[in-house]
Amino acid sequence: MSKEQTIPYKIYLSESEMPKQWYNVRADMKDKPAPLLNPATLKPMGFEDLRPVFCDELIKQELDNDTAYFDIPEEILNFYKMYRPSPLVRAYCLEKALDTPAKIYYKFEGNNTSGSHKLNSAIAQAYYAKKQGLKGITTETGAGQWGTALSMASAYFGLDLKVFMVKVSYEQKPFRREVMRTYGASVTPSPSMETEVGRKINAEHPGTTGSLGCAISEAVEVATHSEGYRYVLGSVLNQVVLHQSIIGLETKAALDKYGIEPDIIIGCAGGGSNLGGLIAPFMGEKLRGEKDYRIIAVEPASCPSLTRGVYAYDFCDTGMVCPLAKMYTLGSNFIPSANHAGGLRYHGMSPVLSKLYDDGYMEAISVEQTSVFEAAEKFARTEGILPAPESSHAIKAAMDEALKCKETGEEKTIVFGLTGTGYFDLVAYQKYNDGEMTDFIPSDEDLKKSFATLPKVD
Ligand SMILES: *Cc1c(COP(=O)(O)O)cnc(C)c1O
Repeated sequence: MSKEQTIPYKIYLSESEMPKQWYNVRADMKDKPAPLLNPATLKPMGFEDLRPVFCDELIKQELDNDTAYFDIPEEILNFYKMYRPSPLVRAYCLEKALDTPAKIYYKFEGNNTSGSHKLNSAIAQAYYAKKQGLKGITTETGAGQWGTALSMASAYFGLDLKVFMVKVSYEQKPFRREVMRTYGASVTPSPSMETEVGRKINAEHPGTTGSLGCAISEAVEVATHSEGYRYVLGSVLNQVVLHQSIIGLETKAALDKYGIEPDIIIGCAGGGSNLGGLIAPFMGEKLRGEKDYRIIAVEPASCPSLTRGVYAYDFCDTGMVCPLAKMYTLGSNFIPSANHAGGLRYHGMSPVLSKLYDDGYMEAISVEQTSVFEAAEKFARTEGILPAPESSHAIKAAMDEALKCKETGEEKTIVFGLTGTGYFDLVAYQKYNDGEMTDFIPSDEDLKKSFATLPKVD
């Protein structure tokens, strides 16, 4: 029997095979991502500038472009052991249904109560906050996965947690809110009347259903105005991409175990953390000139930051209180249309991924949400897992690549990130099942208006 025929449905790593360090892809980038800028002075932000907002140890990770490997503290490794390693699954059933010669693998991050990869960074951020002796942390959540993950992590380390939840999700996903409250977090719909910036946004946009950018502003305001609190963020930042490298390191170790070489690596992209983490060690090889892979970011056509955004310094939040980041962005005022159901609604993209994309190391495509839900349905019916709408963007792209292989007869190996499960997204599935889901693509005019609000930096 060839090695290939012995590949199991699920490839697991033993405890001793699990990564003990995170990998920092910036260390292998010749051209580094642009630094965060102070919005007032336009000077790069250093350790001291960031201290009022973020935890000390996390700032060090954020600013470190040179250290390739960071030891994962034992407390975090122990927590990881409760739900990791996550399985790398050979999608035999999907391959058969598609009648494709392609070999499809997915790394499944939905095997924990929060239902997504976000717990990988949540537990790290809560750990460093606790180690610094803080009372609590604040954050925003959009679809709710990050808030849920962070509420689990905060409960584990005995930290207080205040979550600002984008209003439209707060209303559409009451059960997410209850999970967070069960773990002890307080959850406030954003924009709220509890913060200065929330009151201002409510006054300027009455009836607004909120945005991630707006919820971030509120969470930062509360963190910087409360003694013993700091703000934490679930995506976009360099530190989050660093923590999420656990996904890629495990994937690589599992593939190496069976001598499997991927041709194409695919991930959905909201703020870029799961994709950045999944591709990290592979991108490292690519950057060092050792290997080549096709790497594809998949984003919603209704919030297309990589494919239609501009690469420029922008605010990370609507209230313009956060540092400026150079990234692919749709403008910090951009709010996806109300019919957009599938998460991935942030206006910008991780500065690391933005730089790699701009330098030509990866590709990006956008897909429309009804086709994403069609892919989700197919995947659920063949592979058994009910996928999160976000993850389904990657499923859609992986299926399309596999179908291309069917035409050409190529036996490509495709690896994609299945970031989570969709149990809390049943309102969106209901719309799809009732035939009421629509697609929305912003016009060039819409985007132009949004780009006009970019800060003038150069
Ligand atoms: C948050 C989330 C994403 C998108 O965030 P990234 O930072 O781009 O990874 C994707 N899938 C799921 C299930 C999520 O919860």
